[in-house]
Amino acid sequence: MTHRVFNFNPGPAALPLPVLEKVQAEFLDYAGTGMSIMESSHRAPEFDAINEEAIVLLKELMAIPDNYHVLFLQGGASLQFAMVPMNFLREGQFGDYVHTGTWSKKAIKEGNILGRARLAASSEGVNFNRIPSLSEMDFDPAAQYVHVTSNNTIAGTQYHEFPDTGNVPMICDMSSDIMSRSLDVSKFALIYAGAQKNLGPSGVTVVIIRDDMVQGGRDDIPTLLQYRTQAAKHSMFNTPNSFGIYFLWRYLQYVKAQGGVAAMEQVNRKKQEVLYAAIDGSDGYYRGTVEKPSRSWMNVTMRMANEDLEKQFIAEAKESGLVGLKGHRSVGGIRASQYNAMTLEGVEALVTFMADFRARN
Ligand code: PMP
Repeated sequence: MTHRVFNFNPGPAALPLPVLEKVQAEFLDYAGTGMSIMESSHRAPEFDAINEEAIVLLKELMAIPDNYHVLFLQGGASLQFAMVPMNFLREGQFGDYVHTGTWSKKAIKEGNILGRARLAASSEGVNFNRIPSLSEMDFDPAAQYVHVTSNNTIAGTQYHEFPDTGNVPMICDMSSDIMSRSLDVSKFALIYAGAQKNLGPSGVTVVIIRDDMVQGGRDDIPTLLQYRTQAAKHSMFNTPNSFGIYFLWRYLQYVKAQGGVAAMEQVNRKKQEVLYAAIDGSDGYYRGTVEKPSRSWMNVTMRMANEDLEKQFIAEAKESGLVGLKGHRSVGGIRASQYNAMTLEGVEALVTFMADFRARN
């Protein structure tokens, strides 16, 4: 039996064991082809079927309306920070951004390189410990788009309600909570997410984009970076990350077999209930860093009395087979990332460890 830990890494992150096993089993000979899918041409019928099925499955699982395209791109979510303003901002135009942490800051930076990023709201003043309330968001109807980050992987905050941006298209970086809960995709004109947290391995970025955005994007930017090109070629304008797309497809099949996004949501809801209850019930021994209405289901952040104790906690947790609990270097503390592949059993093991550690220290 292979040794497997409870992996709370923020991303790349834990993957479902049945998916890893499936990929391992067919690694040397995919579907009787006598070769690994990694050795196959991306133009081969086998790969084409995988790519098309992955698109169909994602549409089905997330209930994506027909007027949207699903793309599997490279360059990470970070390239989307640039592709969005590159495609949608022309001379003198701007996008409205809600600033909720490190990742929105990077998106804003690219927006200002390629056009203008206007700040519609920010929680920087309170150290990003909450999502700005909807009433604090000051959108300009002249913006080309509104950009939000649904889950802030480092701060541990998450939108539990999205703004109504009217006729201004809403664009969402959903890197760290895509497919973790049911969502009305039609509220968004474009969703993007690196796959490496909730969908599969690193190296694939999922983009879900409404057709009018594809058609309305600029055509005077590099060909590869136009959504139009990628949509027309089903992400195969050039060689895609074929292994990543294949893995993502197997992951989506697994999600479907589990009961779809509703089933993921049910387990995710339970996991965060259990973990936040352990924090809140610890008489301040463990302190959540985020205001309750903004707490993330995916990245649970907490502090302890001092950094030495936190270090000891992280080291002893690792000894007990609970890894990846160190907070991001920019904020410190403890962070438990519990994406779709983290089991309730894993979270319960963490909660048991927390109680035990507290009793001993
Ligand atoms: N946005 C969010 C919310 C993230 O968590 C991350 C990565 N942790 C990124 C963007 C950047 O993703 P990538 O490394 O795929 O560029």
